[in-house]
Parts: sequence; structure tokens; C-alpha cells
Amino acid sequence: MKVTVLVGGVGGARFLQGLQALLGSDGDITAVVNVGDDVWMHGLRICPDLDTCMYTLGGGIDTDRGWGRIAETWHARDELAAYGADPDWFGLGDRDIANHLIRSRMLRTGYPLSAVTEALCNRWKPGVRLIPVTDDRSETHVVVTDPADPSGDSKRAIHFQEWWVRYRAQLPTHSFANIGAEQASPAPGVLDAIADSDAVVLAPSNPVVSIGAILAVPGIRSALRTTAARVVGLSPVIDGRPLRGMADECLSVIGVETSAEAIGRHYGARSDTGILDGWMIHSTDEATIPGVEVVSAPLLMTDTDATAEMAAAALRSVGLNL
Ligand code: GDP
Ligand code: CA
Repeated sequence: MKVTVLVGGVGGARFLQGLQALLGSDGDITAVVNVGDDVWMHGLRICPDLDTCMYTLGGGIDTDRGWGRIAETWHARDELAAYGADPDWFGLGDRDIANHLIRSRMLRTGYPLSAVTEALCNRWKPGVRLIPVTDDRSETHVVVTDPADPSGDSKRAIHFQEWWVRYRAQLPTHSFANIGAEQASPAPGVLDAIADSDAVVLAPSNPVVSIGAILAVPGIRSALRTTAARVVGLSPVIDGRPLRGMADECLSVIGVETSAEAIGRHYGARSDTGILDGWMIHSTDEATIPGVEVVSAPLLMTDTDATAEMAAAALRSVGLNL
């Protein structure tokens, strides 16, 4: 069974783990991964969502933190701080840095990110094909009221990581911009994976800065609209709240209410101008979305079994036999 999943970081990675457990060796899973969070720090290319998926599926993740390497140490971060090196608000772990060193060297030699990711996955063997949505730069930036301007009159665009990690999304925020997205094209294999699947799934990832940033790459939305596979999404919001992270802060910037129904409507029906055939909401939620089949099931990814059950419900909802 061929399944293509659009994913961000932690929510996406957990969902992939459940899907993988469900399908076992019969599964042929491709994950199209968000690159909007990617950033250069200290001369290193950091790809948080690709790494979260790779470490989670490869058994290297720190499960408590949800990101970064297990048994991590922070000597390099402390040394950088002792030099007063900027940025000082983004901690890179020592083990993690090895991964960024290899990636950055390969990128500088001219390898595309998709090939670099494949090379890094030779070590981690995630069991799922991880493809960055694009090899081109397509970064999420955030237009905020300039925190350095006491008058509060001027706006400034900062990288998504600065907004999320440094300011915890607690700045007056005006809009998101997908820098480079207009000139970006899908990485090799992405469009084929969407076209040639038994089902396409939108993981319960952040609808704005994960799924939204993937959809900003030209060609992705039309691939979802034209694939013969059915497209089903899972709500990252239960009872009006995201499970972790700050999806509500992101949704309010784009004027979408934090509810399963509003997010489903935001994605919209394929039979209309949207991308969904089906929308999964949590058992206690309710939603009506014109043109979309709404199915409710437990959507809490408490452990791999529960997540596998949730993936099964999503695939069944689009007619697959499981
Ligand atoms: P990030 O890139 O690390 O922020 O991860 P994603 O964008 O892939 O996923 C973040 C989203 O996952 C958040 O909006 C959460 O609401 C959602 N999420 C986390 N845990 C769960 C869960 O157990 N169930 C559901 N339905 N959503 C979850
Ligand atoms: Ca992310």
C-alpha cells in the first residue's frame, strides 16, 4: 500500500511512526516534509522538520523534548555563548551538530537537499522515504512589529525560528511570508509520490507553518487536486486547542479560528477549490465542511498503538481496506 503524507516536525513524525506500525512491511510510505523552518545558524544549515522525522523514525530522538538527539550534550552551545556568538537563542546540541556539518558540507559542494537527506538517512534508516518538499529555498518569515523600535510604528520580517524560539510567538504579528516559495519547485519524487499513491494524508501538523508552507510551493496544491488518490487530513486541533506548540498563534495571524472545523474549511473540499476529500476530527469534536466527508475518531497520539489506530481510521475513511 502506497501512502504519501505531508508532514511538519513533531506532529508529523509521530503520525508517521503510527502509520509505519500499522502498515508494517506492506507499507510504502513517502513523507513530503516541510522546509519552511530551515535556517542557517553559525554557518550550518538546520532543517528542523526533516531532522525530527529522521531522528524519530530512526530511533535517535529525545522523546521527552520531542526534537533533537537523545543523550545530547551542549558543549558547543556553551562555548558559542562564551564567545558571545549570535544568535544566542538557538541551542544546537553536540550530536546534532555532526548531522548539520555533513549536510552543510554536502550542500556547499552542490548536492541538492533531497540527495543530502537521502545520504543522512543511510545512517538512520527511517523506513519511510523522507523528501523535502523542495530543494529550493522556501523559508517562512514572519512580519512583526519591530521589537527594537520603542515607538511600535515599524514592522520587520524575522525568520520563523526567531519568532517561534526566541519570541515564543509573543510579538504583535501581522503576516507570514514564504520567502523564495514562488520560485521554488517540488523536489524530485514529490509530485510522483502524490500522483501515484493509494492515499494522500495531511498529517496533524501545524496547518499554517508546516502544511501551509508545503502548500506554498507551486505545484503541490495542483498535485493534490488532480491525484487519483483520495486526500484525507487529520486535525491537529482538539476541542479548540492545539496539542502542543503554538498553532493557535499561527492560525490567528491568518484569520482562521482554532477549531477542527475552521481548519478543515481552510483546507477546503477538492470538489470545490480546496484539497480535501476527507477530514478526521477527534471523537468529541463536531464539524461540517461542504464537500468533505468528516469522520470522527480518537486523534490523541498517546502512543504508537493509538497513533496506528488513528492512521487506520484515516485510511479506512478514504476507502482503503485495513
Ligand atoms: P512541528 O513542526 O514540530 O511544530 O510539528 P508539526 O507541525 O508536524 O506538528 C505540530 C502539530 O501537531 C501541533 O499543531 C499539534 O496540535 C499537533 N499535535 C501534536 N500532538 C498531537 C496529537 O496527539 N493529536 C493531534 N491530533 N495533533 C497533535
Ligand atoms: Ca516545524
